[in-house]
Amino acid sequence: MLNATGQMGRRESAGLRVMIVEDEPSIAMLLAYNLEAAGYVVERIERGDEAELRLTEEPPDLLILDWMLPGVSGLEICRRLRAREQTRMLPVIMLTARGEEKERIRGLAIGADDYVVKPFSVPEVMARVHALLRRASPERVAMKLVQGDLELDRETRRVHRAGREIHLGPTEFRLLEYMMEKPGRVYSRAQLLDSVWGQSTEIDERTVDVHMGRLRKAISRGRQADPLRTVRGAGYSFDETFGRD
Ligand code: CA
Repeated sequence: MLNATGQMGRRESAGLRVMIVEDEPSIAMLLAYNLEAAGYVVERIERGDEAELRLTEEPPDLLILDWMLPGVSGLEICRRLRAREQTRMLPVIMLTARGEEKERIRGLAIGADDYVVKPFSVPEVMARVHALLRRASPERVAMKLVQGDLELDRETRRVHRAGREIHLGPTEFRLLEYMMEKPGRVYSRAQLLDSVWGQSTEIDERTVDVHMGRLRKAISRGRQADPLRTVRGAGYSFDETFGRD
């Protein structure tokens, strides 16, 4: 939902993951500060080669990529992302220095979705991030997530199953919201800790099991089918076949 200034509501962006790959700490900090304030989960990386590794392990919802980086250049990272199935559609905003017109054109040609010239205005970058995410992952910014008879409303923070309201704690709500965004995808406990609790957390992975247990108990009563799957040795997922008969 757009407000008067064209920004996404904080709730709408909550939990979306943005990776910033930028070797200038002041720029990376400025972006991270503003994105976190807007509700995004931010990961900062300074080196191109390190970014490549992280992008293979766990791609974010959107990538802000500086052109000139130690290790591997932003251009090369972008080219490789587009060549891989898993990251072919990942939204990428490139950061370029002033006067690099040719580079910008090359960047777009190689598959960047947008670019921003340094020095940039923060509201401009934020607007581009919101716009790209809305275009790229409409399911992630949808106000209601519905699977079978389970309905999660991000605006009111309410969950209903077969018309009955389910009361969840804030952590259980975020867990369910996160997993309902990508039914069928299996998340490790570490991934859930990163995305639901936040990257800097020092919480034990068993905490995930505790909250998952509470969530299960709350959403499935009596003989109701359990939409949450425990995948042995891997983690958890929201059953993509839930509600399909
Ligand atoms: Ca740089």
